Amino acid sequence: MARTEQLLRDAQGRIDIMALDRDALIAFVQEQAGGTPGDGVRVYKQLWRSEARDFLAMTDVRRTLREKLHTLAFVRRLAPDLRLESRDGTIKYLWRLEDGHTIESVLIPDGDRVTLCMSSQVGCAMACTFCLTGDMGLRRHLVASEIALQPLQVQADVGPDLRITNLVLMGMGEPLHNLPQLVPALTNCLDDHGLNFSHRKITVSTVGLVPKMAELAAALPVNLAVSLNATTEEQRRQIMPITRRHSMHELLEACRNFPLPSGKRITFEYVMFAGFNDSLDDAARLLTLLEGIPAKVNLIPYNDNPERDLRRPTEPVVRAFQDFLVRGGMSTSVRTTRGQDISAACGQLGKARQQVDAGLVAPAR
Ligand code: SAH
Repeated sequence: MARTEQLLRDAQGRIDIMALDRDALIAFVQEQAGGTPGDGVRVYKQLWRSEARDFLAMTDVRRTLREKLHTLAFVRRLAPDLRLESRDGTIKYLWRLEDGHTIESVLIPDGDRVTLCMSSQVGCAMACTFCLTGDMGLRRHLVASEIALQPLQVQADVGPDLRITNLVLMGMGEPLHNLPQLVPALTNCLDDHGLNFSHRKITVSTVGLVPKMAELAAALPVNLAVSLNATTEEQRRQIMPITRRHSMHELLEACRNFPLPSGKRITFEYVMFAGFNDSLDDAARLLTLLEGIPAKVNLIPYNDNPERDLRRPTEPVVRAFQDFLVRGGMSTSVRTTRGQDISAACGQLGKARQQVDAGLVAPAR
């Protein structure tokens, strides 16, 4: 697997400046290039607010400093490989990385809310049995720039008429497995000289890497979502191998102790599989499990994958499950399936390249 340190330099040994957060960039400009903190701020704003790609063109910075920066650093971009637009307005982007790997981001416009679902790794090591990304295994972690460039470049692609309002780390990968790169990336998404998203609009979703949850909370004030997907240890072990390392009990204890700012709640994602975890007994157990946790539940009717035995429950079953939770006092939503015709729905990422190569879908342009 490619080492992160190698990925953070180009062929000439220059460093990936988009992987630095503002403080690290200011220190770099001062220590390596002999600039002032003010120079650092100007460079940072050019890169993130004006989308500058060339140090030499940064005319608000002294020429000698520009030239020095050009020899020391490079400005990364993701190469757009494919852009697929769904009938429902969802847009899936396939990006080709420097070393040939590809990752996906999905833009989901829904009225005033425009959500970008971002990837944090190439593939994933968590091997959840129902998830297509899980089949790939982990190819490598993304570096911080590859994470934060997804919103920067998607926004540039769609233009100012479609402003991304929410970021969710629910694409390929387990974000808490890649915290060293996730933290600077999200710091740039939050920075008011960077992408300037509110912490209320960024959600990190995890299978439940228990020790990393507190680390995330200590580093960043973003929202937490937990993919629970089961109501007994045995059930969860069957579909989410991580349960063998961190039991569901341990996970829920960590949620109970999670330092949530007042008014915030943890979102519990619950993928529903017909005849497996969709009974009203499951719903009752779920209410008990979540007692004492400021929680909301997001039900995700399973998106069928041909090579799996699992099936999506019928709508009345999903509605009965939701009603039961709501009557029990739990705020509960059902995630609508979006972008299914372009395989952009939950758990379907990772197949776009093969589909295009097989002539199953055509690129939009
Ligand atoms: N690894 C993190 C981030 C990915 S989020 C996590 O698991 O939380 C992806 C979400 O989609 C998870 O909640 C996962 O349980 C769900 N998912 C995966 N495959 C799915 C499928 N086929 N249908 C519906 N949801 C799915």
